[in-house]
Amino acid sequence: MSQAAQVNIRDMARGRGVFTGPDAPSDDDLATCVHCGLCLNACPTFRVTGLETESPRGRIYLMTQWKRGGLPFTEELARHIDLCLGCRTCEAVCPSGVPYGRIIEGGRAEVERLRHREARRWVARQALRQLVAHPGRLAAAGALVRVAQTLRLARLVPSARTLPRLHGRFRPPEVAPALGQRRYRVAFLTGCVMPVLYPAAHRASVYLLQLAGCEVWFAPGQRCCGALLAHNGDLETARQLRDWNQAVFGRESFDVLVVNSAGCGSHLKDFYPNLGRRVQDLSEFLAEVGLPEPRRQVALRVTYQDACHLAHAQRIRAQPRRLLHSIPGLHLVEMAHPDICCGSAGIYNVLEPQMSQRILDEKMDDLLKTGAELVVTANPGCQLQLEAGLRARGRPDLRVAHLAELLAQAY
Ligand code: SF4
Ligand code: SF4
Repeated sequence: MSQAAQVNIRDMARGRGVFTGPDAPSDDDLATCVHCGLCLNACPTFRVTGLETESPRGRIYLMTQWKRGGLPFTEELARHIDLCLGCRTCEAVCPSGVPYGRIIEGGRAEVERLRHREARRWVARQALRQLVAHPGRLAAAGALVRVAQTLRLARLVPSARTLPRLHGRFRPPEVAPALGQRRYRVAFLTGCVMPVLYPAAHRASVYLLQLAGCEVWFAPGQRCCGALLAHNGDLETARQLRDWNQAVFGRESFDVLVVNSAGCGSHLKDFYPNLGRRVQDLSEFLAEVGLPEPRRQVALRVTYQDACHLAHAQRIRAQPRRLLHSIPGLHLVEMAHPDICCGSAGIYNVLEPQMSQRILDEKMDDLLKTGAELVVTANPGCQLQLEAGLRARGRPDLRVAHLAELLAQAY
């Protein structure tokens, strides 16, 4: 960090030098880092830059110094926080139990509170608050994109080019009955973007739950879980959504709240005190309760991309693979680094396109070496990012699918 950046007189005069807000990372959390450096090579931003300031240890050091008043708040310091993907790979490998996810969410909330307004981030925050957090508005936007795609107008808008072809949204009944004998009553999180972008993954997930003997309840009025907002420093709106959803899901009884999006599941487990203990990822739940014997062969060479918030935040790696191995005819071929982030990280690919692209390039090299015919993942952000990466490499033929879609093919 340059001397000029460290000494920002204007910020100091405004009292902007230290963490003071209610969401700042706690001293206890920051002190858990013993600076051993074992996380460095697991961190995607350190791997591509080789810079200590783009590593977990470096970021924790910067935040600690900032909190103690040893470093003033500067835009340069904020950039090191911005460039963190929030993938939590560091948390999974840390021998000291550093709660990095909590630290970075708090650090981001402070950065957003203190920094000068930046148009791009302001627009992103408003889009999350005004669009993603409102299912009706998001559905209307999805309908507009569908029309634009049909009229071939979507390619004129750069951000719409990265979207998959939309085919109508997922419209759940209030309850989907179990197929055969009812064994469980589960609630299902429909979420924000999944019903619009990947309705087939939702249909497949619900079908698998029904096959596993579940009556599936879709809590009316449920909204976005708030994960995207929390990851981008808007903890205030994330708390409002949490309180809303906890009330909505509290209206009826159920055994488990099943989630098929890794980022949402991780957020619910960590951030929803009244619901978190009853949340399970779809793969976690299905691997535990079991599915009937598959009826069909799916003769495909497949590779599996671990979504960060499944593998690192929820420590779920074996269950999706176990389910894939249960499909007759399927050949699972692993990447060298299936659990390294693809660079999607919510809306990171929009806010930090250059770093995201560098990380995606590494992922594409790894993925294409497998010779897979299909890529499987369990998070909409990863799916979008991998699809974009494959298009850019001239491989649109190589499909990306949610785990549930592939499993459902076997029935
Ligand atoms: S975050 Fe954990 S692994 Fe990384 S330097 Fe700190 S203690 Fe070591
Ligand atoms: S969350 Fe991911 S990008 Fe951020 S410091 Fe940890 S490993 Fe690196």
